[in-house]
Amino acid sequence: MPGLVTLGETMAVLGSPRPGPLRHAPHLELSIGGAESNVAIGVRRLGHPAAWIGRVGADEFGALVLERLRAEQVEVSGALVDPDAPTGLLVKEQRTPDVTRVQYYRTGSAGSRLCPADVDAAAAVITGAGVLHITGITPLLSPSAAGAVARAVELAVAAQVPVSLDVNHRAALGGAELLRERLAPLLPHLSHLFGGEEELLLLADATDEPSAVARLGGPELVVKRGARGASVYPADGGPELHRAAVPVRALDPVGAGDAFVAGYLTALLDGAPVAERLRLACLTGAFAVTVPNDWSGQPTRDELGLLDAEAGTTLR
Ligand code: ATP
Repeated sequence: MPGLVTLGETMAVLGSPRPGPLRHAPHLELSIGGAESNVAIGVRRLGHPAAWIGRVGADEFGALVLERLRAEQVEVSGALVDPDAPTGLLVKEQRTPDVTRVQYYRTGSAGSRLCPADVDAAAAVITGAGVLHITGITPLLSPSAAGAVARAVELAVAAQVPVSLDVNHRAALGGAELLRERLAPLLPHLSHLFGGEEELLLLADATDEPSAVARLGGPELVVKRGARGASVYPADGGPELHRAAVPVRALDPVGAGDAFVAGYLTALLDGAPVAERLRLACLTGAFAVTVPNDWSGQPTRDELGLLDAEAGTTLR
């Protein structure tokens, strides 16, 4: 059964479970994080095969990344262990209950050394997939990582595999100009483009949504609007579809976007129409905000009804 394939950098994540300056944290929790692998985990939990291509260092953090992905049954045969660079690290500080500060230690990391030859070595995983998912993070990591993404898209397009991209703009990796420069060559090949409202304006170099949609026109455009839900502008130019967010007790908004994309692409792999893709995406996005971790709150298929349960429900 063809599933999702994705490529990018997955890092070790260190974070304090308590609000306050990190220097006073008595201990840190260790996890992993990466937008692309978060999507792979979400799709896999919902029942489709998912594969991740990337590099990790020959270190404990790298072993952790691969071990976690394997535990989630994400296929990692296309992943490489790079003996010459460390696994990237992300440090999360819950400075106040409402403000999280994130520090990246990824310059020169193994993940940023991903290159086109790595993708060629995993070509069969891409050409046999039901969808290739990429983000705007990977092309900004390094010229070789940008080349790896371009090569993956080339392979997918030649094999008629749909290509989805989530803008995921990380200002620490580069400004709007670099984002536009690195993503512009990919845009004509996309079947689905995801982004937040601001990110899409940035990418299109536009000041309002209608002109951004017109400039990015081509792929199915999915606009994520946080607690206000999401909208789809269909590729055939049909009317915009909007769906309100599922009301939940939100603990941590980070990771909602990846879980949303996982729901959307799962429904795409199911062969579901656009309204159902949007419905499932809003549901999986809502699940993600209910837990204080980027990816661990993503649901399995049989958990999808849980958000309808009343507060205080105990399932025995
Ligand atoms: P991330 O912080 O992961 O980068 P993002 O900015 O890419 O997130 P959001 O727009 O924050 O993505 O969230 C994606 C989707 O998740 C929204 O379109 C919505 O459907 C759902 N969602 C986000 N926040 C909430 C919330 N507070 N309550 C319910 N659903 C939410």
